[in-house]
Amino acid sequence: MELLIKDVTNKEHVGKAVTLRGFISNIRKGKNNIFFMLRDPSGVIQCVSHFNEKAFPEVEKLTRESSILVKGNLKEDSRAEGGYEITIEELEVYGLAEPFPIKKGHKKVFLFDNRHLWMRSRRVTAIMKIRSTVFEGIHEFFVKNGFYEIQSPSFVGGSVEGGSTLFEINYFDKKAYLSQSWQLYAEAMVNSLWKIYTVAPSFRAENSRTWRHLTEFWHAETEVAFMDLNGIIELEEGLIKHIVKNVLIKNQAELTLLKRDQTILKNVVENPFLRMSYESVIDLANKNGLKLEYGADLGADEERVITSKLNVPLFAMNYPTKLKPFYHKPDPKDPTHVLCNDLLAPEGYGEIIGGGQRVDDKETLIKRIKEEGLNPNDYNWYVDLRRYGAIPHSGFGLGVDRLVMWICKLPHIMYATPFPRTPRRIYP
Ligand code: ATP
Ligand code: MG
Repeated sequence: MELLIKDVTNKEHVGKAVTLRGFISNIRKGKNNIFFMLRDPSGVIQCVSHFNEKAFPEVEKLTRESSILVKGNLKEDSRAEGGYEITIEELEVYGLAEPFPIKKGHKKVFLFDNRHLWMRSRRVTAIMKIRSTVFEGIHEFFVKNGFYEIQSPSFVGGSVEGGSTLFEINYFDKKAYLSQSWQLYAEAMVNSLWKIYTVAPSFRAENSRTWRHLTEFWHAETEVAFMDLNGIIELEEGLIKHIVKNVLIKNQAELTLLKRDQTILKNVVENPFLRMSYESVIDLANKNGLKLEYGADLGADEERVITSKLNVPLFAMNYPTKLKPFYHKPDPKDPTHVLCNDLLAPEGYGEIIGGGQRVDDKETLIKRIKEEGLNPNDYNWYVDLRRYGAIPHSGFGLGVDRLVMWICKLPHIMYATPFPRTPRRIYP
């Protein structure tokens, strides 16, 4: 069986021969010995070769980031990181590395230019492990709650979230777009399966270039038949609690490596989320020094101020109709507002989920499509869903990269995704 560093760093293996594969970091060559840290996905371990004991010409040639197999005796060493050390007895080199370009203190642009190499760093590895737990938690939550996973196309004929962020592409002799959300297709599929979800990339030509926008991001979306706004809010809260709880259980080592203060993450699992109307959120913003009027849209900057002092997420509910896309259901008691919610993450992060109840009658839908300056004929199949047995239904979309950014408390969404795509970056 192949063992990783985490499997052998225990009393049971002390004094025995262990075999490990990995990459070399922190290599120190002395007159009489060579020390280096061997790194695999599970951690690091110090390896040493004393020249007087056994001659290894290969050891002397080793360079930082070379990939090797080592066999040697495991002993405890309180001075070494992790508390153990291997005395090398056999060595095989897979690939001898050229001088590695990444050194301490590089600027962000250089690091992202070298993301393919920077991936190997322990910080990036820790973030990607947490990201993996987040994806796992999403699937686990929906499967546990009886949802079907189903997919929508990425090539689409029309906009969902407004034309300004549509990526237009040549689709043979026609114009087509990359999908901004599975939303409209979900509303067709929900009529047969009733509880559905997907995890897929969405594409938006974001020119705003904020710290929380990518042009391609991972979107976990769900749609539920016969569910109203309150139901969907409870589902959102359940999902976020489940994910954060999982990360706290499975990623202690990674959160510690990232020096993440876990107080707020624990709060999120244990306490109810806040709920406020859009107007109360504007009031809160103004109390914190902003000067917003009712009707103002909330972006990254405003939400940073609103959420920076919170210690649980906040549901901002019932936005003015004109701030939201056509598929949101106007509140029957006050049609100037829609039955929607944005879930704002604390610590300044802001929106991670957009959700709500959907329009379920044909006349309102056609009116709302026209009000947005769109042509209802382009949405014929979508309007059909209200012609043949419309039902109340609700759903939401979670930005997974944004959630990872907040859980890890990262300064920019680019750090949360393996190979970020932004208006300026499509390499590597
Ligand atoms: P914003 O106002 O921040 O642009 P939005 O209102 O356009 O967000 P929605 O259309 O509600 O967002 O999308 C659902 C979720 O998808 C958002 O809450 C967010 O987490 C995520 N999301 C949206 N756009 C992006 C993007 N460009 N990059 C990363 N995540 C995004
Ligand atoms: Mg947007």
